[in-house]
Amino acid sequence: MIEYKVVRSRRKTLSLQVSYGQVLVRAPYSVDDKFINTLIEKKSAWLKAKIAQQSQVDDFCCDFSQGSTLFLFGQLVTLNIIFAKQVNTLLTEGINNKKILTIVVAERNKKKLSNKVLLAAAVKKHIEKYFKQQAEDIIPVKVATYSQLTSLTPVSIKIRQYRSRWGSCNNRGELSFNYLLMMLPINVINYVVVHELCHLEHLNHSKEFWQLVAKHFPQYTQAKKWMKINQSALLWRLASY
Ligand SMILES: [Zn+2]
Repeated sequence: MIEYKVVRSRRKTLSLQVSYGQVLVRAPYSVDDKFINTLIEKKSAWLKAKIAQQSQVDDFCCDFSQGSTLFLFGQLVTLNIIFAKQVNTLLTEGINNKKILTIVVAERNKKKLSNKVLLAAAVKKHIEKYFKQQAEDIIPVKVATYSQLTSLTPVSIKIRQYRSRWGSCNNRGELSFNYLLMMLPINVINYVVVHELCHLEHLNHSKEFWQLVAKHFPQYTQAKKWMKINQSALLWRLASY
């Protein structure tokens, strides 16, 4: 039997959702419990697969709980979650040069966040915001530096979250970068910037493209190797690059 939680509202349709390995049913008031139960049973194979898939990801990834670790600039940092009035996320150094990422969650939400899953979701949001700020500080500077070196200049740059890519380039010369890049060592971030800039000349992964990457970033194979080795430990799980 699969455990699940039902949230009723004035919505008109029924939805099934699995997040953090838990099943959530969103249902209109008019649908009775028996109907939901039958639906859960009918979908049990799919739900079980989904739950298994998510717990497998959790084996490798940060679960956003107190004391869990994640990559920041290529180094593992330990999460320290505290409640206070002023929301903040800051990186400090603890004993033995251990890096600590302190996430300050709003005191007023403490009661609401006594649920582990909800707290993890809130912490994840804080970290995403922190990554985005870091990326907005760092990426444009790097793009400017490598634009000068390569004479390849984008029309614009955007910082956003992608689920399965580190960056992108379109045929209008616009570059986008994933703020989860902040998980990677600086040198690997540099490679991704050069990679996307080279797409301004070759919008593919042809031999000519890789020759151009090698010209401007000769150590690119090392960067690719780091990404491959650490792929499973990268929090938001990205495909190879
Ligand atoms: Zn590419």
